[in-house]
Amino acid sequence: MTEHMQQFVRLPQQPPQKRGVVERREDFGEIYREFDQAGAAAQASRCSQCGIPFCQIHCPLGNNIPDWLKLSAEGRLEEAYEISAATNTFPEICGRICPQDRLCEGNCVIEKGFESVTIGAVERFITDTAFEQGWVRPIRPRRERAQSIGIIGAGPAGLAAAEALRRQGYQVHVYDRHDRMGGLLIYGIPGFKLEKPIVERRRLWLEDGGIQFHLNQDIGGALSFEALRGRHDAVLIATGVYKAREIAAPGSGLHGIVPALDYLIASNRKGLGDDVPDYDSGLLNAAGKRVVVIGGGDTAMDCVRTAIRQDAASVTCLYRRDRANMPGSMREVTNAIDEGIEFTWLAAPEAFLGDDHVTGVRAVRMHLGLADASGRQIVEPVAGSSFTVEADLVIKALGFDPEDLPGAFNEPGLALTRWGTLKVGSKDFMTALPGVFAAGDIVRGASLVVWAIKDGRDAAAAMHQYLEQSASFATAAE
Ligand SMILES: Cc1cc2nc3c(=O)[nH]c(=O)nc-3n(C[C@H](O)[C@H](O)[C@H](O)COP(=O)(O)OP(=O)(O)OC[C@H]3O[C@@H](n4cnc5c(N)ncnc54)[C@H](O)[C@@H]3O)c2cc1C
Ligand code: SF4
Repeated sequence: MTEHMQQFVRLPQQPPQKRGVVERREDFGEIYREFDQAGAAAQASRCSQCGIPFCQIHCPLGNNIPDWLKLSAEGRLEEAYEISAATNTFPEICGRICPQDRLCEGNCVIEKGFESVTIGAVERFITDTAFEQGWVRPIRPRRERAQSIGIIGAGPAGLAAAEALRRQGYQVHVYDRHDRMGGLLIYGIPGFKLEKPIVERRRLWLEDGGIQFHLNQDIGGALSFEALRGRHDAVLIATGVYKAREIAAPGSGLHGIVPALDYLIASNRKGLGDDVPDYDSGLLNAAGKRVVVIGGGDTAMDCVRTAIRQDAASVTCLYRRDRANMPGSMREVTNAIDEGIEFTWLAAPEAFLGDDHVTGVRAVRMHLGLADASGRQIVEPVAGSSFTVEADLVIKALGFDPEDLPGAFNEPGLALTRWGTLKVGSKDFMTALPGVFAAGDIVRGASLVVWAIKDGRDAAAAMHQYLEQSASFATAAE
């Protein structure tokens, strides 16, 4: 062991500085500043280089974290970048938005007693530096292959697969119904977690590598799924999950009650300089309003923190469980509290008040009961505990289910699970249709970017195997 490592006994955890609350509420810039090289090296040197790296085991991508921490501590950043990029298509994105407290950092062995290594921040620093230094080289396949692949969905799953397949030399075409690539990275996740030039930088890199994007292409709409299949030797469906869960309560149809993703897309588009009539009209803009957000996951946290930046008069988050049971990243909950969001835990909406436009939410207190079969405590209303929260804008952030893909694609052969996600082979990622694969949220259900990347990479490997086998059968038959 070099003298560079195991510094946790001497050095305290020091994450990159956060911008002050007053300053960061004024804009949509990321709230964490970047490490400088000395800071990154010092924090990386805290790694204990333990024999069984639990951080790596709990990283969905199996990143070789101890290795790139050691190289960073030694100032060997280009090598650190090579190792980091070998297992992760977008390390700088994961470093920013993975819920590290539940994944790598939450399982760091020095966490008990010394606070974990700031793994995500070092990961981000390594790749941001690599971009600055020109170490992120274009994708240049060793040989071109004639076979072509169609990928539906330019989110992290589709993009990770596109990169891996292009490296193998396939002709890769990515289709998306939006006018920009990135999926939820561009239109869902706000800039204060992930600034958009970071995504744009990757677009340029992917295009430079020869991946062709076909934007504004709604598959199942203007271009049929059947026609798309006819164009390509294999197809990957990576369309994510977008059917917003509804609240069955009286008054839920009132004006001023909006779905979370509509609200976030409007805000992100505005930040990207687009014309957004529903934002300008005030429908999807929290300025001056009393805002109530219903839900407790990452989407809800993004909505409350967007509303506060839009200069809402007040922002309240209603969540039916308690803080400890919130499903999203604890780090983001803490950031939201710091930024002035009021949380009303253990409360659920009973009814929305107002004649035409919403004026308030009548909520009821909840308590946590016994655990159900899944092990999660059930929530039950407390009789006679109703109360009202005044509101001009209510944002529903209760999560997402898959859309009806066999219906949308007019392809009944696409088999579904009982949750409505696409059914694929556990190892080969193939749907019930030969040559049609699927990855990301549309298979897993609403999940995380890091899992989408993992699935995209694994699906690409399975598609490569399938295409090689198909090619060798064709040669044998000649
Ligand atoms: C508001 C919000 C915040 C989040 N925050 C985090 C976070 O902080 N950290 C984290 O790890 N995860 C976060 N997530 C989850 C994460 O964004 C997703 O798990 C991830 O993006 C899934 O990747 P994907 O590629 O499967 O799908 P998506 O990113 O949803 O991409 C799917 C793409 O397919 C396109 N598409 C869909 N249907 C069609 C069609 N018929 N034709 C053409 N194109 C189509 C869509 O336009 C989209 O671009 C968040 C999710 C939301 C909603
Ligand atoms: S990809 Fe996510 S879980 Fe894995 S090391 Fe990076 S931040 Fe941690």
